[in-house]
Amino acid sequence: MKFFILLNSKHKDSWYSSTLYGPYENDEAVEKEIARLWPHNTTQRYLVFEGKVMSVKPSPKEKPESKKREPGNTKNYVKNGNGWKCKDCGADILGATVAHPVWIRGFNGGFGQCKNETLPYCPNCEKKPNSQGAPIYDE
Ligand SMILES: [Zn+2]
Repeated sequence: MKFFILLNSKHKDSWYSSTLYGPYENDEAVEKEIARLWPHNTTQRYLVFEGKVMSVKPSPKEKPESKKREPGNTKNYVKNGNGWKCKDCGADILGATVAHPVWIRGFNGGFGQCKNETLPYCPNCEKKPNSQGAPIYDE
């Protein structure tokens, strides 16, 4: 798989770039795409490279989803510098953002506002908090 980025400007010895384009099947497909997007810009330079898309392998410490406990019980965490660690597996405790839609009482819904809350959880031992929280009522 081929990818490319625009080399925007050179500062000292480093090129600055922004968007990543791709993947494309081969060099020819990249050339076609560049010609299509910027047909007249012959001074522009591109960095074309071979790449592979991959994701992080599951941690061997991670428990199967069915064995995970409910998140957010601070009794399972120990203080670690500025953050927290899991007592069971030693992983750093992460924060998941949960958005609670704000509903108006007597009216089944709201105006699309949300209140965000950060819930702690261990990425190995606990279920990730659902990002869609229960609605809360605007008092
Ligand atoms: Zn853990």
